[in-house]
Amino acid sequence: MTTAASGNTEQMEFQAEVGRLLDLMVHSVYSDKEVFLRELISNASDACDKLRYAALTDTALAGEAAEFKITIGPNKAERTITIADNGIGMSREDMIENLGTIARSGTAAFVQQLSGDEKKDANLIGQFGVGFYSAFMIAERVSVVSRKAGEGVSHTWESDGRGSFSVTPAEMAATGTIITMHLREGEDEFLEASRLRSIVKTYSDHIAIPVALVEEAEEGEEAKEPETVNAASALWTRPKSEITDEQYNEFYHHVGHAMDDPWHTIHWRAEGNIEYSALLFLPGSKPFDLFNPERKNALKLYVRRVYITEGVEDLLPGWLRFLRGVVDSEDLPLNLSREMLQNNPVVRQIRNGLTRRVLNELTTKAEKEPEAFVSFWENFGAVLKEGLYEDQANKDALLKIARFRSTRRDGWVSLAEYVEGMVENQTAIYTIAGDDLEALKRSPQLEGFTAKGVEVLLLTDPVDEFWSSMVGDFDGKPLKSATRAGADLASIKAADSPDQPEAEPEGAVGNVIAAFKLALGDAVKDVRVSDRLTDSACCLVSDENDMDLHLERMMRQHGQKVERAPRILELNPRHTLVKRLAESLDGPDAADRAEDYAWLLLDQARIVEGEPLPDPVAFARRMASVMEGSVG
Ligand code: ADP
Ligand code: MG
Repeated sequence: MTTAASGNTEQMEFQAEVGRLLDLMVHSVYSDKEVFLRELISNASDACDKLRYAALTDTALAGEAAEFKITIGPNKAERTITIADNGIGMSREDMIENLGTIARSGTAAFVQQLSGDEKKDANLIGQFGVGFYSAFMIAERVSVVSRKAGEGVSHTWESDGRGSFSVTPAEMAATGTIITMHLREGEDEFLEASRLRSIVKTYSDHIAIPVALVEEAEEGEEAKEPETVNAASALWTRPKSEITDEQYNEFYHHVGHAMDDPWHTIHWRAEGNIEYSALLFLPGSKPFDLFNPERKNALKLYVRRVYITEGVEDLLPGWLRFLRGVVDSEDLPLNLSREMLQNNPVVRQIRNGLTRRVLNELTTKAEKEPEAFVSFWENFGAVLKEGLYEDQANKDALLKIARFRSTRRDGWVSLAEYVEGMVENQTAIYTIAGDDLEALKRSPQLEGFTAKGVEVLLLTDPVDEFWSSMVGDFDGKPLKSATRAGADLASIKAADSPDQPEAEPEGAVGNVIAAFKLALGDAVKDVRVSDRLTDSACCLVSDENDMDLHLERMMRQHGQKVERAPRILELNPRHTLVKRLAESLDGPDAADRAEDYAWLLLDQARIVEGEPLPDPVAFARRMASVMEGSVG
């Protein structure tokens, strides 16, 4: 660093990295320059925190730790904005060190990331601002007058951000710092009180120190009173015992932009390896855009009481994206870009902490207040279930709190309750997936399960298709689709129901099956005797390794190209129609005569399944001809 003294003024060059950074600020094409104010308020607030802390241990400083405040003063005539604080202040050496070099790793890493591409780099600042130097985005000249606590002298630091700065002795009456920005051409919007007020509200509302705006008096008017523009209280830093439910709810409305009341509020401070405070709200109602793929989480990230950003993807798993609230980290650097938040070990640790805590709370709620839990599950269960396939680490905890509809109960059932209610010889958890609960309950594939008293879980959320095929098993019991071959109903002992179907010798329908196979050819994968039907004549099932019927349909609806896997047609040997067919279909021309029946039954099974008919005209023609025969 070269030094040129003239009188008492010393002219010095910026460290090379600062030079690059300043160059970017001076030529900034970034449009949200307003972040400069957040940066300067944050520095002022830090300075107050430092003095408060120093005064605790150094009684000589106690007298200087006055009531802390930060004051913003726009001046239209001079085209300046001043930001004053009564914090710790800076000595001459502090100024040279802090405002002439880049000491902190955060900004240093930022500078390393600069690409030289102006637009790209501007965006990089844009997201988060880069500390003190961001003042040069709106100011052509910045002066800093400061007096350090415990020292009687003060200095002025001044620069136009072009390579060098000066330091000169100054006169200042009290401890603290006053930063004056001489605005560039075209930046006059920042002289408007309303604009400044709204920037403070947006970024610095929860700075714990009051931020006052001092508007200029019009000519002939009396000087205006300072107006505190921030809430000046970070709710999450206060002890739980001092916060009322109303205050929590009000804060939820504010941070969550929500109208409802939270279903559950979780407020804690994590200490140890990493430190953060979290105030999380589980909403009481479902946001309308919950399944919009563009939707980010609405968690606000603060670093030491300074608002940084919201919707940081890595801060919450996607399956908790409905959470609202605040996380305030003590460990992250203030000036961090979005890129730096990705793959950041501190962010990852916070995410794990938040996830664990929320899951614990949900588990407790599910156990202790099952009814209240169900109301939450009805809103957000479908989102939580995404975690079953996205988040291996938390899959088991999620399976435990998951609730389902089933064929055997009106309310909701957990997997543990399901397993408890399993019948003798039942080894699997059976599920059936579809769009509509009522239609699902009437699925022919469920008849045999119901007859044997076997409960089947009814899955109606689109996400069910994904996790249920991937999750494997629960408590050692595999999940199996009731619409798949190999559901082994035969081995399950019959419940003591009077209308228990008799096992029918397969031979009696053997000729029907043979004739149907011949007639249907490639349209089906197989024709089989069913052990899952009691009332219906037939149904479709998918082969054990083929895609589930509902999943295939769903993927097609979402515009994905999926091959239609041929299905297995199952026939109910106890059904009168099938029995009659078995009696009548004999002899060499059986296949010909069976053809209409085969196709009609297949189409009927498709209709029940909600599948479109590949050839509705043929269906109608066959139907008419069969009706003709029976009318006569
Ligand atoms: P950061 O705040 O992340 O350290 P900045 O670029 O915002 O980085 O500020 C650089 C340093 O300048 C601060 O760490 C602090 O030491 C000093 N500083 C800035 N503003 C003030 C102020 N108002 N009072 C005292 N020190 C300040
Ligand atoms: Mg700062």
